[in-house]
Amino acid sequence: MRDALFASIEAKTDELVELTRNLIQIPTINPPGEDYEDCARLIGERMRARGFDIAYVRGDGTPGDSDRYPRVNVVARREGGAPGSCVHFNGHTDVVEVGKGWTVDPFAGVVKDGKVFGRGACDMKGGIAAAIIAVEALIETRPDFPGALEISGTVDEETGGYGGVAYLARQGYFSKPRVDHVIIPEPLNVDRVCLGHRGVWWAQIETHGRIAHGSMPFLGDSAIRHMAAVLERFEHDLYPHLASKRTDMPVAPEGARQSTMNINSIHGGLGEDFDGWPSAVVADSCRVVVDRRYLIEETYDEVKGEVVDLLERLKRDRKNFRYDLKELWSVPPTMTDKEAAVVRAVASEIETVLGKPADYVISPGTYDQKHVARFGHLHDCIAYGPGILDLAHQPDEYVGIDDLVASAKVMAASAWALLTGEVT
Ligand SMILES: [Zn+2]
Repeated sequence: MRDALFASIEAKTDELVELTRNLIQIPTINPPGEDYEDCARLIGERMRARGFDIAYVRGDGTPGDSDRYPRVNVVARREGGAPGSCVHFNGHTDVVEVGKGWTVDPFAGVVKDGKVFGRGACDMKGGIAAAIIAVEALIETRPDFPGALEISGTVDEETGGYGGVAYLARQGYFSKPRVDHVIIPEPLNVDRVCLGHRGVWWAQIETHGRIAHGSMPFLGDSAIRHMAAVLERFEHDLYPHLASKRTDMPVAPEGARQSTMNINSIHGGLGEDFDGWPSAVVADSCRVVVDRRYLIEETYDEVKGEVVDLLERLKRDRKNFRYDLKELWSVPPTMTDKEAAVVRAVASEIETVLGKPADYVISPGTYDQKHVARFGHLHDCIAYGPGILDLAHQPDEYVGIDDLVASAKVMAASAWALLTGEVT
């Protein structure tokens, strides 16, 4: 069976490249969420022609959804010839903005030097195309396959996934008994199984002061100086503490194998868009937004508590220190068991196809697996797909054609092993 599958996929190499190009050529930039419906229909109508039942599901009322920018998802399902489990391939159809520094047209789907270039080539239209070709090869090779196969193209992963996988998962699209195993072909490198991701906590801290004339700052109270005190505590207390927390999660790259916190933005005083003559005032407000990434060994309460404690201590130590903390977003870390069926199936096929043992990794940032775990309560889920993680969101993003083909083989053979119960 494997040999027949692999031969079929090799014979479809041109088709795989063409499908990747066609997906890239639909500029599904998010935000705002351009052309989602066109992309959903490209996938949906292709799969309908291959005997799949198609559902187009709009994430009604989710962030960004409007008649101008409808959040249109597609779910394709084909039942096999006998009862069995269901393997689902999920890819996000949205891509991030283009940015500067491109040497090729980002939406032409340029092919050169054995690579397909374009925004989304690696993250993750190449992965969607590889999953589709894998499933098509499997169905053609064994139309009587047991169980069921599903492919979904979902929106908004780049902005949290609320109109996409989260919306569908809340409706049971990512739960048993409908689905048993989920593979998300994100670009985590073709020889690695990604078991999950670190957690996220985003918050805004605002310090308060009192406005006064800038020539007599002693009559006011500078919110910016209060914020400077916060940042100093971050440097001296919090950052060393975070760096000391190591995880057993195999996060890649290595630098993310600890707790981290980025300061996304800082703002105080005059308006950001101000370009006139500055006025002489003491700032009465200063805000920072922090992006804290946390580990499976930490809890949400701990993560939040560290920052609150630091601010409360400042309140005691520093005259007139007042602050507000607004939580913006949080997601717990998730890590699929290495012994889960989908992990063993994919790892074993990586070894067969690439001739070396699979690496296991955890993503430093989150992706849609969080929604499958949280809302779908399904823990047999991984990310595995073609493309080099470091190229995601970069100019001249590309995916290697060899990687596309190798990952399609791994996906097809893994799906076969899971459907037939060869791996349980
Ligand atoms: Zn992605």
